[in-house]
Amino acid sequence: IREDIATPRRTKEIIQRHGFSFKKSLGQNFLIDQNILSKIVAAAGLDKTKGALEIGPGIGALTEKLAEEACKVTAVEIDQRLLPILGEVLEPFPHVQVVHGDVLKLDLKELFAQQFSDVSGVSVVANLPYYVTTPILMKLLEEKLPLENIVVMIQKEVAERMAASPGGKEYGSLSIAVQYYSEPELVCTVPHSVFIPQPNVESAVIRLKVRKQPPVQVEDESFFFEVVQASFAQRRKTISNNLKSRFFPKEGRERLEALLEEAGIAPSRRAETLDLHEFAKLSNVLAQFGL
Ligand code: SAM
Repeated sequence: IREDIATPRRTKEIIQRHGFSFKKSLGQNFLIDQNILSKIVAAAGLDKTKGALEIGPGIGALTEKLAEEACKVTAVEIDQRLLPILGEVLEPFPHVQVVHGDVLKLDLKELFAQQFSDVSGVSVVANLPYYVTTPILMKLLEEKLPLENIVVMIQKEVAERMAASPGGKEYGSLSIAVQYYSEPELVCTVPHSVFIPQPNVESAVIRLKVRKQPPVQVEDESFFFEVVQASFAQRRKTISNNLKSRFFPKEGRERLEALLEEAGIAPSRRAETLDLHEFAKLSNVLAQFGL
């Protein structure tokens, strides 16, 4: 019988035997708790017809669980020192492939074509390196990869911003970007004690159910995101003041206020009160105006 990797005893044994030392700069906090792993894997909804992409397998704690559930697992790891360890612990699983590289630099479309051509669906499942959480998630979403779910352990504060609804202080351009591409749902919060070494920030597991179609129609996606960014530039300012600084610096306020009215948005509102539909309407009205 194999012993699970994610226990304090086995993890310490593996890293000591290989003389491995943690690199903080690579966000290396390894999971040593079976309960949390079960929750992460269950949230991904895998089965023997599905594929899983893991980012940052570490010493394979989550990888071996994914291997038990999915028909194909590909794990991308940046730290070369982990490759011999992964080779050893994942030996029982011929359907697991480790790719050495930086996920932010990889051509993921090509990776998908190579690795996942024969599965019924793919989910990303990972305990992410916290120093690059947002760039990794935005890359996965913006490239419109054929993904079902993204289930990831991230900083609790970032998870809350991603899942936030209009009206609160967590709601901002990150919430809108993530919700344009997916339906986020907090799975659980996670105590520090499930990692070695323990991270300094609080953690949570979030599931992003990737949308097949965006929930709103925007004429020009990059302009839509530009309008969102501009609207939140200074959170305490009204939407009218933020948009004026960005798009109408030299003109009178009347024209902007007429456009806001056309979009059905009172100029005195703050960006944090606008929902996705209102931002879409606003950016479509501003785009028509030729900005
Ligand atoms: N999955 C393991 C676990 O749960 O125990 C390790 C998780 S640890 C939080 C993050 C992992 O991501 C580390 O193994 C680290 O080396 C790797 N990593 C960091 N930056 C990366 C990048 N840009 N591309 C791929 N892997 C990366």
